[in-house]
Amino acid sequence: MDDRRVRVRFAPSPTGALHVGSARTALFNWLFARHTGGVFVLRIEDTDALRSTESSAEGILQGLRWLGLDWDEGPGAGGDYGPYYQRQRLELYREFARRLEERGRAYRCYCTPEELDARRQQMMAEGKGSKYDRRCLHLTGAERRRFEDEGRPYVLRFLCQDEGETVVHDLIRGDVRFPNQVLDDFVIVRSDGMPTYNFAAVVDDHLMAITHVIRGEDHLSNTPKQIQVYQALDLPVPQFAHIPMILGPDRSKLSKRHGAKFIMEFAEEGYLPEAMVNYLALLGWAYDDSQEIFEIPGELIEKFSLEGISKNPAIFDVQKLEWMNGVYIRKLDPAELARRALPTMQKAGLLPQEVSDALMERYRAVVKAVQERVKTLGEIVDRTRYFFAEEITWDPKAVKKFLHREYVPALFERLIMELSPLEPFTAAAIEPVFDRIVEESGLSRGDVMQPVRVAVTGGTVSPGMYETLELLGRARTCQRLRTVLERLRRGEL
Ligand code: GLU
Repeated sequence: MDDRRVRVRFAPSPTGALHVGSARTALFNWLFARHTGGVFVLRIEDTDALRSTESSAEGILQGLRWLGLDWDEGPGAGGDYGPYYQRQRLELYREFARRLEERGRAYRCYCTPEELDARRQQMMAEGKGSKYDRRCLHLTGAERRRFEDEGRPYVLRFLCQDEGETVVHDLIRGDVRFPNQVLDDFVIVRSDGMPTYNFAAVVDDHLMAITHVIRGEDHLSNTPKQIQVYQALDLPVPQFAHIPMILGPDRSKLSKRHGAKFIMEFAEEGYLPEAMVNYLALLGWAYDDSQEIFEIPGELIEKFSLEGISKNPAIFDVQKLEWMNGVYIRKLDPAELARRALPTMQKAGLLPQEVSDALMERYRAVVKAVQERVKTLGEIVDRTRYFFAEEITWDPKAVKKFLHREYVPALFERLIMELSPLEPFTAAAIEPVFDRIVEESGLSRGDVMQPVRVAVTGGTVSPGMYETLELLGRARTCQRLRTVLERLRRGEL
């Protein structure tokens, strides 16, 4: 490696929101920049007029911000190598296209799509492959003039080196050799004047002084084309690192059906950005085989290296991500977890916009009580609904199993009587009440507790019984027991 300061870039085409694959590419670039004290550049490749919109770039920025991947240069950050939107760089591509034409390494092609198609089909039929036949490279002066006079639209094609081979010295995969005869004279400027990816990326990576191009392996076949463009322009070639693809557990291309959502969808479901970053880092990279959880971001930055990146495809396993999120949730201080889950709770209507100090205190205690069991912030909503909702519903299966027992009405009557005046209404004070009932009734502890649990929470799962009752508070506890009693009497439950 030379001793220039590392400059890497993440160069998304803004075709929508940030997805798992691009987030992982961004993360590896960011980690490499932070590890080496280099610069992380964000460049928006928006020359594909049809697919790019400003708001889709915004979606990508939002995903990066949520993950905490800050960029040193790019939209909103400025920098000396801008502009960072390709559409604002068209002049620069024109200049480099002109240079290539001057050097005889690019030529105008006037063939229409229909002509190209017809000839391609014929060539295929004759077993001659499907490469461009270079007809326009060999136009006579008169033919060219005629096309110009007709005002025929043209594209600019790169004249590929078609003998020998182009070698990609890949930092992960080693030398990857491409026989030049497989390369086609690809289009570098379209008829509307827009540069294509393989050309614009080279111009930008050069002008932005990019030292390392770290991107998905799906781009490996583009790299020999790009190397030829560097060579044709006598530009230094950056280093390349092609990172392995991410597949679903069935080893097919990653998709929604494997649970791979957009990054902001994970955010909405209550994944923590640090868990997401940790999980993404392990998609194709490892420090050693045993370490899975890292301090985010410090330890990850310190331990990250290109050497740790695998050649083999990574498998996206949504269950592992969920597990990891649970690990990060348990690592949080309960007050912090409560703070993070607050918007989710408010959105679900369980907490008001303005939370009083008393309610906040109770909310924190509730979060603490469920913290061990939840894997996402969204799950906090599901598991704590009965603590905050006025009305609850009862799971019919649990009702049938635990509330239709003949001793239940008497049990609830007695509990209401004993709990109503209990002072203070704490787990420590509630426990002896249950102890006495168990002792005097001859029922097992489970037979006493499960019906109570179902009555006050609606289901069979909750934190410890006494703690749950304390957190519910006296009024709610007694009121739910009463409501269930009445409904049972009226045959409504
Ligand atoms: N715009 C390209 C993409 O999103 C960039 C690829 C590259 O990093 O060169 O796939």
